[in-house]
Amino acid sequence: MSRIWNFSAGPAALPQAVLERARDEMLDFHGTGMSVMEMSHRGKPFMEVAEKAEADLRKLMGIPDDYAVLFLQGGATGQFSAIPMNLQPGGQPMDYIDTGAWSGKAIKEAQKVGPVNIVASSQAEGYASIPERSTWKLDPNAAYVHYTPNETIGGVEFHEVPDVGDKPLVADMSSTILSRPIDVSKFGVIYAGAQKNIGPAGVTVVIVRKDLLEREKGQVPAVLDWKLQADNDSMYNTPPTFGWYFAGLVFEWLLEQGGLEKMAEINQRKADKLYRFIDNSAFYRNPVEPSARSWMNVPFILADDSLDGPFLKEADAAGLSSLKGHRSVGGMRASIYNAVPEEAVDALIEFMADFEERHA
Ligand SMILES: *Cc1c(COP(=O)(O)O)cnc(C)c1O
Repeated sequence: MSRIWNFSAGPAALPQAVLERARDEMLDFHGTGMSVMEMSHRGKPFMEVAEKAEADLRKLMGIPDDYAVLFLQGGATGQFSAIPMNLQPGGQPMDYIDTGAWSGKAIKEAQKVGPVNIVASSQAEGYASIPERSTWKLDPNAAYVHYTPNETIGGVEFHEVPDVGDKPLVADMSSTILSRPIDVSKFGVIYAGAQKNIGPAGVTVVIVRKDLLEREKGQVPAVLDWKLQADNDSMYNTPPTFGWYFAGLVFEWLLEQGGLEKMAEINQRKADKLYRFIDNSAFYRNPVEPSARSWMNVPFILADDSLDGPFLKEADAAGLSSLKGHRSVGGMRASIYNAVPEEAVDALIEFMADFEERHA
């Protein structure tokens, strides 16, 4: 068996120890004689899995008791619709910060539900920075403020939680959740598709302050209705049982690693060394403003883009996979989520140095 270093943006690398444990438990889950995928979500064995996953996530992130934790389906994209439907009773404006591709998609869905106010946008700067907080034009009547803490495609990340007064702050944390400790109490809603830093695709984690569940709202489809899902422990309909189970294994693994403080230390070190290498080279370049560079997604371009093909081919041959940048921006992108070890980043840097030496 040979596993490669996987820099995929999502679905992305999963911790090997977790994959091995899921394999070992696959055919006979805890003496039940069946896999976790084959059992009722309402039976005792799965209920225990579900409760432990939630408890471990609460412990990892320090989620206060006045927040509900939901395990839903439909991805972050489903939540792009759920957010305006659950938080905006009709006609009220909704504030959105536009920092790239994913905030753009969130805006597009919200516009189907009500009026969107673009508070600030870095579009004119090619989405390579974060608009200065002092330039933001928040609407005093807005139902909430939405932003994307980490733009997975552009590789742009907020390293501080913006202050938006007493408006509920809604954050698409799909590609940065669990990468470091955060103060959950600063947020109204945190949501994330699992396939970057949580587990396999198919489960979506939504953390919502309980008072927001009581907001007046219009007609919301049942699967997107946070209150209905919270009242039914995310089991109004069949939940994504395997993804929920697997996420629970990842949460356990993170606790064993030393929790999010430890992950932050490792993640920052991984990102710092890769950016340092890129900045010290005339052959590679990262376009993002240094203070807004992502710890999780590192896009870079080659000075000579005719070398993109050979770079990817040789990288693959060297066991470094999925480095091609998003089709909308081109170039390269190394996604270095929690499950990508420092060794993988070292191997990437070594390969990049060697490639440069041979082609510069
Ligand atoms: C991947 C991603 C999404 C889309 O998630 P889906 O689960 O495919 O809907 C949304 N936002 C961000 C920031 C992402 O990284």
